[in-house]
Amino acid sequence: MPKEHVYIGVGSNLGNSTNTVKNAFNAIGNIENTRVLKTSSLYCSKPMGPQDQPDYINAVCLIETSLKPHGLLKQLQRIELEEGRERKGERWGPRTLDLDILLYGNETIDTADLTVPHSGMAAREFVMVPLFEIAPDLVMQDGKPIAQWVANCSLDGLRRLRTSN
Ligand code: ATP
Ligand code: CA
Ligand code: CA
Ligand code: CA
Repeated sequence: MPKEHVYIGVGSNLGNSTNTVKNAFNAIGNIENTRVLKTSSLYCSKPMGPQDQPDYINAVCLIETSLKPHGLLKQLQRIELEEGRERKGERWGPRTLDLDILLYGNETIDTADLTVPHSGMAAREFVMVPLFEIAPDLVMQDGKPIAQWVANCSLDGLRRLRTSN
C-alpha cells in the first residue's frame, strides 16, 4: 500500500496537557497502518482567540501512514474524543486535545471537512516552530523554506519545555 508522510499538529490546554500530548503520540502510533517517525519537543504558548483560558501545550509529529486523508482525520477525531474533547461551539475555545492534519505528503485538499495544508498553520508560530524542529529542510507549498519563516517570526509567547518526551 502506498504510504505518505504526514505532519500532525497537537494542542491541549485542559487537564494534564503534557501527559495528554504524550498519550496522543502513542495513540497516533496505534492507528492501523500508521507509525510515528518523529515527535517535536513540547512548547507552551499563549491561547489564540479567547484569552480567558489556560496556556496551551503544543507539539508536532511526523507519521507514515497508508490511510487516506479523510480516514486519518476520522482516526484523529476518535483520539480527540477518547481524550475527553468536547465540542462547545466556541471558536478556538479550551480543549483537552486538538489534532490537526498540517501537511499530507504534497497533497492539496479542499473539501467541506478537510483543508490541507492546514489553513491556519503558516500564521501560527506554535505550529511552525515545532515543525521546524523536526523538519528543518521543509519547503512550504508557497515555495518558502520553513527556516526563512522561522527566522522572521516573533518567538515571544512561545517557550520550549525542557521535559523529555
Ligand atoms: P483551527 O482549524 O483554526 O486550528 P480548531 O482546530 O479549533 O481550529 P476544530 O473545532 O478542532 O477547529 O475543527 C473544526 C473542523 O475543522 C473539524 O471538524 C474538521 O472537519 C475541520 N478541518 C478542516 N481541515 C482540517 C485539518 N487539516 N485538520 C483537522 N481538521 C480539519
Ligand atoms: Ca501503528
Ligand atoms: Ca487547531
Ligand atoms: Ca482541530
